[in-house]
Parts: sequence; structure tokens; C-alpha cells
Amino acid sequence: MRGIEDVTPASVRLPVATDDTVFPLAQLPPDAPIRCGEELCRMDDMPVLSSVCGKVEGTLMIHHPLYGPLQCADILRDGTDEVPLPIVTEEELTPDAIIELAREAAVYDELDGIPLWEKLSHWQVTEEDLTPLHSVLVADGTANDVYGSAPWAVLKEDARMVLDGLRLAAKAIRFTRYHIATMLPKRRRRALKKAVGRAYVYTVGDEYPVTVYADKSMETYRIGVQACLALAQAVREGKRHTHTVVTVAGDALPAPHNLRVPFGTNIAALLTACQAQSEHHIVLGDAMVGIPCTDPHTPLLPGMTTVLAMSPRRVRTPGPCIGCGRCAEACHVGLLPYEIVRRSENMHYERLQHLYPSDCDGCGVCSYVCPAGRDVAQEVLEAGQTKGTMFLNWGEDEYE
Ligand code: SF4
Ligand code: SF4
Repeated sequence: MRGIEDVTPASVRLPVATDDTVFPLAQLPPDAPIRCGEELCRMDDMPVLSSVCGKVEGTLMIHHPLYGPLQCADILRDGTDEVPLPIVTEEELTPDAIIELAREAAVYDELDGIPLWEKLSHWQVTEEDLTPLHSVLVADGTANDVYGSAPWAVLKEDARMVLDGLRLAAKAIRFTRYHIATMLPKRRRRALKKAVGRAYVYTVGDEYPVTVYADKSMETYRIGVQACLALAQAVREGKRHTHTVVTVAGDALPAPHNLRVPFGTNIAALLTACQAQSEHHIVLGDAMVGIPCTDPHTPLLPGMTTVLAMSPRRVRTPGPCIGCGRCAEACHVGLLPYEIVRRSENMHYERLQHLYPSDCDGCGVCSYVCPAGRDVAQEVLEAGQTKGTMFLNWGEDEYE
């Protein structure tokens, strides 16, 4: 596994408003320098921070493949000045104070791009609540993707700080149990246990996607290792969350890289730093269920931890099902994808109900393993939408 390399782009593009609000650009002093970590505006009660030191050049509307229409500010980088947060003492670190710090430091959870303070406020229990007795807060370090390795690289670089952030997050929601979940190879797992203590490391099963992050009797609440690290850095060092670590990989790159970049760095800058071949398709996220991206100027935003550059492939013509059963063997939910598709095609809707097609989460593994080249996952998802009746296929509203 490679370490983390720092990349400093010439400019960043940061979302400052959605399509139905207007960013008050006029409120920013013209030509005044903006420091890294300085608040540009607030969106949904969360500060939008500049991730670089520089100057706002202007704004423009973009359509982000993950977040839809966004009004963005282009900031030309110049300098390295940072705005620190005040450091609080241990006594001042109450659960509510930790949540407030997560908000002011603009810490996002990389697992889904949701602000960490929102998750923690939602999960926080009262002192009398018994939920913590059967619950555990997990820092997800599994890199649950064929290509992704950003969480492993972060753990390798600073596992103790990640554990400290996880401990703070657990304190914020009044949980007493917390651990880092990982699927690292044995030698690296041993190094992680040595760094943080074996009681704080849980090894998940070798499955895709991972579904079990703790003892099955425990209710699991999950946040990313980068969110833990950012929370610890905010509390201990007064640093705001302006940078992220992203895995840039794929078969159109000579070698995968883990890059630390400011939020808002465009995808093209990442691919250039990794010497991507000229002809490639960009995929954001997981190799199985990632989202295609056609605009290389798309900015990297919270919730994006893997960017793939894939060579163009000849599309295979799907053949008939040969009944090999590989899709059923691979399904982590225990479904029978070929049987679901067969019943759906033959309109055996009553029997279809007993095969639970709506339990499918669209992970895509059945399509990946199918030797006939069928998009089994899509067919199962469509079968799940019929909910055991053909009427939905013909136009639900007309028959209600
Ligand atoms: S896409 Fe659905 S049916 Fe296919 S393996 Fe994943 S969960 Fe199972
Ligand atoms: S993997 Fe493909 S060919 Fe094999 S049983 Fe499933 S759908 Fe049929």
C-alpha cells in the first residue's frame, strides 16, 4: 500500500449555494485575500470554508454528478495562511461542545458526505438512556472497494489520532464502546493493533459489501476514519477540515495513488498528478456501483474517497443465462438472482414475492461474476420494484 502524497492545485471550486439560493459574492471584500479555513458563507447551518489561501475569482453554476446543481466559487490559490480554531481544555469538552466543534471545523463524514455534527447530534443519547449498553461506534477503515485504500493509508499514517477522534465522537454521543473496523492483511493488522491497542481493532469478514462491523448482538453506528482524524485535529490542534485523502486508481493509471488534496480540487488535477492515459472514463466511488463523471473539472467534495480512471472497454453482448449459479453464490444477501430474473421474465409475480427481490441493495456483484455478461443486478432491482404485481410496470397511478 502506498503512503499519502500531498497535491496542491492552482485553484479550487467550492459549493457556496444550491441552485435556488444566491451566494452573496458582493459581501466578500473585492481582491481581499481569503485564508485557508476562512468562512465563505453558511449552508444548512454549517460553515463553508475556503480550503486554500487565495482570492475568489468568481462564481458559476455546475451540475455535480453526486450532488446535482450547485453554485460554486472559484478560488485561485496563493499563499499558505490558515485560520485556526480556539483550542479548548479537557474540562470544556462536554458532549455538546464536541459536536459544536465538529460543526465549526466543518468536519464531514467521508462515508456519505454528511456533516459529522449532524450525525452525532442525531445519535446523541441522554445520560439515562440505556442504548449505549448494546451499541458500538465504529470507525470504518475497511476500504470496501476493489481499488480504494484511502482509509488504510490514513490509519497507517496516524492511527492514534484516528482513535482519539473516535473516542471524542463516542464521548459526544455518550457511547462507551467504540472500535476501528478493518480488513487489513495480517501484518498490517498487527501493526494497527500495536499502535492503538488490540481492544480497539475489529476485523471484518472478507466479503463485499461488508455488512458486519461489530459483534452481531451490538447495534452499529458508523463514521469514517478521516472524519475521526479531522475531529481530533480540530479539538487538539485547532485545525479545520479543509483537506481530504482520496484514492486515485483504475486500469488507465500506471499506479494507484493516495493523494491529500484541498476540497474543491478538480478531478483533472488528480488524474494529471497520477499520469492518467489520455483515453479513459472517470468513475467516482466504488468500482461496482460508482457514478460515471463526464466533466473532468468536477470538484472533489466531501463523500468522495475514490476516483477511478478506467480504459474504454468493448461492451459485451449479454447471452442467455446458463444456470451456473455464480450469481447466487456471490450474493451477500443470500438471494437467488437467476431465479428472481426467471420468475420476473415469466411474470410469476406471486412466486417472485417469496424470493425477496426488494432485499437487493444493487451492489452489482452478481453482474460482475455472471459469465453470460448479463446485468443481473439491474434485472433484480427491476423485479424488486414490481413488488409482486405487474400493475406497477404498466403505470401505478392509473390503477390506484
Ligand atoms: S445486486 Fe442484489 S442480487 Fe446482485 S449480488 Fe448484490 S444484493 Fe445480491
Ligand atoms: S451468473 Fe449469470 S449465467 Fe450464471 S446463473 Fe446467474 S444469471 Fe445465469
